[in-house]
Amino acid sequence: MTVRTRFAPSPTGFIHLGNIRSALYPWAFARANQGEFILRIEDTDLERSSQEAVDVIIEGMKWLGLDHDEGPFYQMQRMDRYKAVLAELQARGWVYPCYMSVEELDALRERQMANKEKPRYDGTWRPEEGKTLPPVPEGVKPVLRFKNPREGVVAWDDKVKGRIEISNAELDDLVIARPDGTPTYNFCVVVDDMDMNITHVIRGDDHVNNTPRQINIFKALGKEPPVYAHLPTVLNEQGEKMSKRNGAKAVTQYRDEGYLADAMVNYLARLGWSHGDDEIFSREQFLSWFDLDHLGRSAAQFDEAKLRWVNAQHLKSMEDVALAPLVAAHLARHGIDADDRLSDICALFKDRCDTTVALADWAKAFYADVQASEEDRAKHLTDAIRPAIADLRERLQSCDWNKDAIGAVFKSVLADHSLKMPHLAMPVRVLVMGTPQTPSVDAVLALQEKQKVLERLQKA
Ligand code: GLU
Repeated sequence: MTVRTRFAPSPTGFIHLGNIRSALYPWAFARANQGEFILRIEDTDLERSSQEAVDVIIEGMKWLGLDHDEGPFYQMQRMDRYKAVLAELQARGWVYPCYMSVEELDALRERQMANKEKPRYDGTWRPEEGKTLPPVPEGVKPVLRFKNPREGVVAWDDKVKGRIEISNAELDDLVIARPDGTPTYNFCVVVDDMDMNITHVIRGDDHVNNTPRQINIFKALGKEPPVYAHLPTVLNEQGEKMSKRNGAKAVTQYRDEGYLADAMVNYLARLGWSHGDDEIFSREQFLSWFDLDHLGRSAAQFDEAKLRWVNAQHLKSMEDVALAPLVAAHLARHGIDADDRLSDICALFKDRCDTTVALADWAKAFYADVQASEEDRAKHLTDAIRPAIADLRERLQSCDWNKDAIGAVFKSVLADHSLKMPHLAMPVRVLVMGTPQTPSVDAVLALQEKQKVLERLQKA
């Protein structure tokens, strides 16, 4: 059996980290099992769905490398198929028209609430042997309801939550088509999961209440339901369910803020799944370890500081030539064209950065003007040090432009002026890089253009 999983987002609002985690696990499960991963856009809520939201989903998945093998399929384009399956179900006696008006339904609900009963459809229009149905009201278009079994239980072994059993008596007859004939959400999901041969449904546990209804529809269609794994919610830092309403960012914003795709995959993977105590791992390791047995059972909480830390670890171990184009993209947004020094700049500065944006901020000093603070200038550029800086500038003019030669010039100036390295290195950094805190000054200078260094030292 080929494992087939899917991600089935509703394109309403942008996709945040909590949502994309529901794409990561089914993708990883498919990849880990040489299976197939399908993307399905659940766009039947016409008022809230937008193409812009679809674009962000696709862009975010592409960025994170969550490639799909089939799709995107759009539910709105499958309406004919849903209607055909509906007709089939109706022909097999699983569906009946219900003419109960909204007012009658409201009154029923109120009566049930007053009697402290769970509000549910009471089966007025459900045909039964020997039962006389009420007279069909004129001019009313009925909804179609699914004849949920009355007896027995619906049960499944949820890969996260364990065995779940729901008594059919708890479930009322679900509306599966509206008066205009359009099928409703739960029905479309079942037809899709059936047609797309989905073997494992891995999704948020906000859908766990839909599952017994979906299983009953599967059975009515004569199909075996897939395996289900319902993922606990992702909470934001305040402990609320992550949502755009309370400040969640679009996935793609993390790319713009300088996070690495592999670090995001690593972080999101750990947000609800574990492999022993491993915190930092590559995409390949993740795929070789991922299974459904180690999914967490309780809600996971987003922690930005940890995400930054994970990102920093990936940044440090990433190849400089791979890092450079990512940093170049941030520089380009500031109108800066980088050159082939950029991977060496990455090598020199990445240890002190936790995002590619921070790395780009360092790189800027090599391609654009720098401006030291008055405070740093006053502190490090003293009259006592100016003669040594002038001397250094003089000697650098005829120096070969590499780290060792520059280091030798520094040593000679320090000796002649009886200074220690920091006395000279700090003001030079302030002038050349705009800050006194940089990696070793000879290495930094060697990556700067000689002319630029000489110009900046003149501003002592
Ligand atoms: N469209 C649903 C959502 O975005 C997911 C449905 C499913 O995975 O079955 O929450």
